[in-house]
Formats: sequence, C-alpha cells, structure tokens
Amino acid sequence: MRAVTLDGQLRVDHHAAMPQVTGDQALIKIRRAGICNTDLELVAGYMNYSGILGHEFVGEVVDGRGVDDLIGRRVVGEINVADGTCDLCARGIPSQCRNRSTVGLDRHPGAFADYLALTRQNLHVVPDQISDDQAVFVEPLAAALQIFEAIHVSPRDRVVLIGAGKLGMLVAQVMRLIGCDLSVVVRREQQARLLNHWGIDAVDRVPPQQAQVVIDCTGTAAGFSSALDMVEPRGTVVLKSTYTALPQADLTRVAVNEVRVIGSRCGPFPAALRLLSLGLVDVDSLIEQRYTLDEALEAFSAAAQPGKLKVLLDF
Ligand SMILES: [Zn+2]
Repeated sequence: MRAVTLDGQLRVDHHAAMPQVTGDQALIKIRRAGICNTDLELVAGYMNYSGILGHEFVGEVVDGRGVDDLIGRRVVGEINVADGTCDLCARGIPSQCRNRSTVGLDRHPGAFADYLALTRQNLHVVPDQISDDQAVFVEPLAAALQIFEAIHVSPRDRVVLIGAGKLGMLVAQVMRLIGCDLSVVVRREQQARLLNHWGIDAVDRVPPQQAQVVIDCTGTAAGFSSALDMVEPRGTVVLKSTYTALPQADLTRVAVNEVRVIGSRCGPFPAALRLLSLGLVDVDSLIEQRYTLDEALEAFSAAAQPGKLKVLLDF
C-alpha cells in the first residue's frame, strides 16, 4: 500500500506493508485526511517520531474481527490508544493513559496511508449528512471543544484568542456559540474576512490586562508571553499550543496577578460530530488546498506556508 512515512525525512512509500489487524482492531480504508500543525512539527523533529504520519482522517471500515456492524460504514478515530488497565484509565481519563500510544504521533502508525488498523473502541460512525471533507475536522474540532472540559467560560466574559490558524479558527467558532464577548487578534486579511463573515470581531490588538480568558493557539514560543500581557488579574490563560521552542515568559506575573494557566488537548468526538451535523461550525471555508496521497510532499510544503489553513490529502 501507499504511505507517507517519516524516518529522518519525509517520503511517499509505494510499497509499505499492509497493517496486520489484531485483537479488536478494525481495518480502515482511508478516504481523506488533513495535515495538522503537529504533523509539520513532527517533520521538524518533534517527539523524534518515525513511521507513518497522520491523525486527522475519515475512512471506511473494510475488515476486522467482531466489527461486522461497522463494515462499510464511514468512521473517524480518536487518536489516543489506551491500555484500559492503568490508574488513569480506571479513573476515566483514557486520553491521558500512562501507557498510551497515539495515532501518527507516538508508537502507532498514522492515517496518511491507504489503510490503518485501529481499535474499534476509538471509532465513531460518521452520520450521512457530514461530508468526507467535514469529517476530517472532527479531531481538531473535538480538541477545540476540550477547552470547555478544562474551564468554565461565562457568556459575560471578555475572551481573546491569539493564533488564528487551523486550530484557532475552530476554537473561535465554538467560543462564538456561547455568546461571550470574543475578539480574535489577526494579522492576515484572509482570516479577518472569514471571522467577520462568521460575526466574530477580528482585531489588530487588544488593550492590556482586560480579558477574563485568553486562549493561545499560536503554536509559537512568544504566544504565552503575549497571552500574559492580555489577561486581567485572576484571569485564565488557556494553552492550546504545543511549542517547538521553550516559551520565555515572566512567570512572576502569573504569581502576582494570580493568573490561572490551563492546558487542554484532545477532546470529545461525539460533541464535534453533533456540531458538524447541525451545521453550527463552518469547516468547509477552512479548506485551502487538496492534493492526492502521491503528492504528499507538495502538500506538506503548501501546509507549511505561513497563514495557510487546511490542506487535505484526497485518496
Ligand atoms: Zn491506561
């Protein structure tokens, strides 16, 4: 089968081994996949990953033991594969399983391949009204929704989002749904236009220390420091970024201003599927380019351009 593999360098392998389906795994024929900033970071050396890349996908179940009810269905898949036995799994936090592997990120083959074997407990059937294009966004949209698992955002809050990229544009849309006073700091005309189209304020700058909640989706080391400039005393900074470089920030301000700093990562797939089914989040406008799997190297170059929104791989 074909696969996009990383082993020091990125390449398209036309003779990759077919996945061997074991235990409760389903064999999924990938239909479409999305390139995420994390994929770009992996290529740059993050996590020292080697193997097949890709963790945003939709595919069709074609084989597996005990998955008869799923054969022929379109599915999306959660990326954390938990052991189900450790103390964190027992406490209902499988996404933080101590022995987890992660699809396309950590000791688990990814989805930029013709086929992926994934445990059925991670799979969610995609309703017919959600297109393949839209289904690719379930994973990042779930990650955006995870903010609400981590903090309470009041409809009265002033919320500032920085980093209007692939993930930030999803976070902005789910924040809009609760009616808070939301501003997104943008530098690019395209992002500003889209945000305005959704009725969201796109601004150049915000006054210092006025926001109750600041969400950092920048993915840059400077983002955290900017967020500290904007948050008011006793406010909350939410980190949605993984940083390739270590942030330099004045942590004394966290202590003196009594700022809460909250991390959040992977989120609830069923909620993301419901929002897409209801048409409450516009993901189609976020698609900028699409490539075939054979053109994956070009697709990665395109995705790495500053300000680029979603690049899809079409199988
Ligand atoms: Zn576990």
